Amino acid sequence: MKPQDIAQLLDEPACGHNQKSKSGCARPKPGASAGGCAFDGAQIALLPIADVAHIVHGPIACAGSSWDNRGTRSSGPTLWRTGMTTDLTEQDVIMGRSEKRLFHSIKQAISEHNPVAVFVYNTCVPALIGDDVEAVCKEAASRWGVPVVPVDGAGFYGTKNLGNRIAGEAMVKYVIGTREPDPVPDHAQREGIRVHDISLIGEYNIAGELWHVTPLLDELGLRILGTLSGDTRFRDVQTIHRAEVNMMVCSKAMLNVARKLKEKYDTPWFEGSFYGTSDVSQALRKFAEIIDDDSLTARTEALIEREEVLLDERLKPWRDRLKGKRVLLYTGGVKSWSVVAALQDLGLEVVATGTKKSTEEDKARIRDLMGDDALMIEDGNPRALLDTVAKLKADILIAGGRNMYTALKARVPFLDINQEREFAYAGYEGMVELARQLALSLESPIWDAVRKPAPWDISSDVVLGCGEGGMSHG
Ligand code: SF4
Repeated sequence: MKPQDIAQLLDEPACGHNQKSKSGCARPKPGASAGGCAFDGAQIALLPIADVAHIVHGPIACAGSSWDNRGTRSSGPTLWRTGMTTDLTEQDVIMGRSEKRLFHSIKQAISEHNPVAVFVYNTCVPALIGDDVEAVCKEAASRWGVPVVPVDGAGFYGTKNLGNRIAGEAMVKYVIGTREPDPVPDHAQREGIRVHDISLIGEYNIAGELWHVTPLLDELGLRILGTLSGDTRFRDVQTIHRAEVNMMVCSKAMLNVARKLKEKYDTPWFEGSFYGTSDVSQALRKFAEIIDDDSLTARTEALIEREEVLLDERLKPWRDRLKGKRVLLYTGGVKSWSVVAALQDLGLEVVATGTKKSTEEDKARIRDLMGDDALMIEDGNPRALLDTVAKLKADILIAGGRNMYTALKARVPFLDINQEREFAYAGYEGMVELARQLALSLESPIWDAVRKPAPWDISSDVVLGCGEGGMSHG
């Protein structure tokens, strides 16, 4: 990828960073890839396309960088879970045979797995030695008659976020618009209901949470043509250009896709969230508002009313148990506000929220929800997080999996909210699950047990005669 193409992606005009400041999105910093490199971002953005053979063109360690470390789920094909790599070694580099190796890897993937398409992810080594991945993909596609898509997001190009955008760019360039949608099936043509086509961008079906939302959309007559990229298929992604509206689900990572689809196909888009009762209802209303079909609006309002009443009833017992509990939320980006709304809906008090990857717009939404004095945490190193938990007397830390041991070692209840989570919190149904998981974590009998002095501390007090308070159990 040329430096000017990378600069263009970083200067995405639809991104809040670029609207607010001249410096734009974060530039790549050498050695700062702890949060994931561009290849990592590109791969996690597209791996959920379940019937594609995903080949990592590079040393085998790159393939281990992000493969299968997310909770995304597929309702059908499992091909995406087969890790494939060209496994480049220094011999391939010295002998100049890495392009050949890629060509044969594509051949092997096609002959052994018969995929509908192959995606090839570029990594640092082939990018540095100048492999023409695009040309190899083109040649392979014409030789075997299977679409072969180059995703040129080598790690050193930049951050994980940039990789997400590169992945989206590859979809716009090579996949979206290459097939027309299937006709609406007869059984979907309910009496008097006109089916509208939509797509969801930035929805990864983590822990299967998309499946909490699809029944609602289905009932409203909103057909998901494709998603980027939770529980989707290659042939679905090909048809996204025909969506009447695109929703950017809780993520700014692929804003470039929404903007380009607007430019190319005039598809309107909006940013929304499926976390929290009011945000789910708001997202459904937004579809109806943009599609502008009176009967859809009426159906949407009826569905929202029914679901909210039902949910209120189901949440009552949980609300009583969770009321007033203090939460420190440390996540980033859009989740810094969308999850705040969900927690407040449950009656919890969010005492602070992390804003590491949040834009100015995200911060404004946090202030709307939490007030002007909302405490926003930029630096989430373990010590700072635990100090804040103690200072604000938080009852629970809600954060990404990497903070789990920080919390548990300090005997603080913890809930995983990031992409590795095991439970689905989206949709109305997700609110019940969120309440259940919060209560399970907060009320676990383990806290009483581990906060008492350890038995060996007590007995050593007796044996050693240290006396009351003589030994620390901290
Ligand atoms: S693509 Fe580059 S930065 Fe990313 S895992 Fe591979 S070698 Fe490391």
